[in-house]
Amino acid sequence: MPNPSAPRNNGKQQDPALRRKNFDEVAHTFTKEEALAEADRCLHCPTHPCQNACPVGVHIPDFIAFIKAGDAGAAVSEIMKTSLLPAICGRVCPQEKHCEGHCVLKAKFGAVNIGGLERYAADTARAEGALKPPVPAASTGKKVVCIGSGPSSLACAAELRRAGHDVTVLEALHAYGGVLRYGIPSFRLPREVINKEVQTVQDMGVKFKTDVLVGATIKLDELLKEYDAVYIGSGAGLPMMLGIPGENGVGVYSANEFLTRINLMQAYKFPQTDTPVQVGKHVVVLGGGNSAMDAARCAMRLQPETVTIAYRRSREEMPARAAEVEHAQEEGIQFEYLVTPKEILQDEQGRVTGIRFTRNQLGEPDERGRRRPVEIPGSDFVQPADTVITAIGQRPNPTIAKTTPALKTTERGVIALNEKGETSMPGVYAGGDIIRGGATVLLAMNDGIAAAGRINEYLKGK
Ligand code: FAD
Ligand code: SF4
Repeated sequence: MPNPSAPRNNGKQQDPALRRKNFDEVAHTFTKEEALAEADRCLHCPTHPCQNACPVGVHIPDFIAFIKAGDAGAAVSEIMKTSLLPAICGRVCPQEKHCEGHCVLKAKFGAVNIGGLERYAADTARAEGALKPPVPAASTGKKVVCIGSGPSSLACAAELRRAGHDVTVLEALHAYGGVLRYGIPSFRLPREVINKEVQTVQDMGVKFKTDVLVGATIKLDELLKEYDAVYIGSGAGLPMMLGIPGENGVGVYSANEFLTRINLMQAYKFPQTDTPVQVGKHVVVLGGGNSAMDAARCAMRLQPETVTIAYRRSREEMPARAAEVEHAQEEGIQFEYLVTPKEILQDEQGRVTGIRFTRNQLGEPDERGRRRPVEIPGSDFVQPADTVITAIGQRPNPTIAKTTPALKTTERGVIALNEKGETSMPGVYAGGDIIRGGATVLLAMNDGIAAAGRINEYLKGK
């Protein structure tokens, strides 16, 4: 009999006092005993509301049943029927918004720790040699190229390969994974986990090439001569600017630059690595999403005196994963809610000395249902700071669209799709942040999987 009333196990974590000084992974994978006990809480609901709320429809009660039976290999095979990056998703998906947010146990006893169990299944099966890449269908003789190597392209490439096509992934950077590698820090997602998940896709026979910036190294039109179809999963890697005075001051970073230095270039190991990164004594991060949490937690590990996250709404409207906000608080990061930055102040040398903020109160909900910040007149104050990191959103890099006149984009710069999910160019498909302007790993993967289905149909008729 299941034991739903047993307390939810959030998993063990590195002590906050230690982890705020290192880049080692914060959360630990369940032991077998912990996984069995957590799996035992699941009621295996026949209507599986958790699974219905998962963007890629992972067979949640079924994989949990395999864990309960002590078979991590079978559990991960069940997950991989719909999601090929289980060790990544178990670590970074916003489960509280998707599966765990809909678990029937949530209100009374706490949701089953589905993310923790997914991660356990992937890590354990891999360690036991029981994580097997899916076997591709017989060759179709068709060639497809996926642009970018983030979760969207990885998912699309794996599905296309599964269907028997010859698939190549082209990546502009020198390493694969997109935001997983250059945005999300190793203390949340260790680099070897990304490497192993990419290796699974490589083991299926997908080919990968680095240092190819489509639109510069090669044009999209040229790719269409070599390949039967193209998937664009080039993400949204361009930081948005605040548009306030002082934004170019010395000591101001975009979260994108700050995180890329630390995560991709390993600047926190400088001078053993080539790229430096510096923070002063008082760091202020502007924003309330995952980028803001990651930037603040990375900054904390460089050991300034204070790190503050300043957000224009309240805690309730913050879009970051709940676990990251809690971890940031445990690590000593301060939060200043309901404030809008008006000016970044500088000394005569242009070095940042502080930020002038105005306080807000919450007004009516916006089109997404989040209450709008409304400024309180006369509430200005100055927060001292010598390092400012802006994390207020990302937008697509225009390189591909600018060099492909036939490819339609919207005024937000994202690639436009018609009601059938097609771009304005036959044989060219797109998904992930390049059509959404910023989303989640699972939504990006889901777009890639859906586009692979459309590409399969398109290639049948070719
Ligand atoms: P990306 O991951 O951006 O990958 C796009 C890839 O395409 C990049 O590698 C880029 O170099 C490459 N590329 C771009 N242009 C070209 C070109 N012209 N030619 C060739 N290659 C090109 N989501 C979650 O679910 N959970 C989280 O915890 C989370 N944390 C996040 C933390 C940060 C700091 C950020 C920025 C985002 C986070 N997100 C999180 C959001 C999530 O990472 C993204 O929604 C997701 O990565 C989008 O996937 P994608 O494949 O569309 O694009
Ligand atoms: Fe198990 Fe919760 Fe899903 Fe029900 S909703 S099957 S209890 S994880």
